Amino acid sequence: MSNLDPSPEPVALAADGASPAVHRAVDVLEARKAAVGDGTEVRRLLPQRALRTVGAWCFLDHYGPDDVSAGPGMQVPPHPHTGLQTASWLFGGLVLHRDSLGSEQLIRPGELNLMTSGRGIAHSEQSPAQRPAVLHGLQLWIALPSSRRFTEPGFAHHAELPVLRDGDASVTVVAGEYRGEQSPATVYTPLVGLEVAVPAGAAAALALRPDFEYGVLAVDGPASAGAAPGADGPGVNIEPGLMAHLPTGVSALRLAPFGPDGGRFFVIGGEPFAERLVMWWNFVARTGEEIARFRADWAAGRFGEVPGDPGEPLAAPPLPGVPLRPR
Ligand code: MN
Repeated sequence: MSNLDPSPEPVALAADGASPAVHRAVDVLEARKAAVGDGTEVRRLLPQRALRTVGAWCFLDHYGPDDVSAGPGMQVPPHPHTGLQTASWLFGGLVLHRDSLGSEQLIRPGELNLMTSGRGIAHSEQSPAQRPAVLHGLQLWIALPSSRRFTEPGFAHHAELPVLRDGDASVTVVAGEYRGEQSPATVYTPLVGLEVAVPAGAAAALALRPDFEYGVLAVDGPASAGAAPGADGPGVNIEPGLMAHLPTGVSALRLAPFGPDGGRFFVIGGEPFAERLVMWWNFVARTGEEIARFRADWAAGRFGEVPGDPGEPLAAPPLPGVPLRPR
């Protein structure tokens, strides 16, 4: 769960074909591989050296599809968080969440688990013994603003989320608002999270907020993502392991899967997050001193236990030898 591994430089690809006056560059950022818990390999798309956050979204792992019918599946033992919300989202499979508030919740595709760490919480995530063969999903973090980062911890499960038709696309409003449909999930800065399903041979034309920046994942396979007035024009090519990043000022997004079965996308967006952060291990803070204190609190057991979890809690890695600086 460490964020300290080096990240590759972003690869800037061609943008839309619009005139220079309305030209908006779409960057494509490459994931780095990371291991989570005992045997789950993830594609880590945020944070990047070149892109710390997308709105308040500050961490994004995409994993699977993995065959978890044999072996342990996902096994992430109890570990702490501060200063953030975790959003768990599945495209396939089943995950069991437990936390130090006593929550115990299975999550299925199309449902949102949203945990607010506030000042501190511990949780675990594991593949339950009875589970589908395939596991495929996202783990996201949302940085809490300073006014909320020491709030009381909380956990919410949202099984019913708005789903709307938008042209040929089907859009699930996971967080925030889209075309008048509001997710029930409580967030603390202006942001949005959408799952977008597009049939083969079709394209989605999503309305974007020009005051938001956006990140776009292709969930299932190769696809095109383009920013353009009217959502025309060629885009950049993305696939699992790549994320398109659109800066503020773009009002439309065209998404077209290349595969014969169509494809799904996950879109994150938000007002650029102005506060500087220090992210280390599972903590989001503002200074290196805070990080050291959170680490000591975890070592001293001050985050509480996770009832029902049979696993040994994760030990924090050693602090780096160089000061952790906000960025
Ligand atoms: Mn976690």
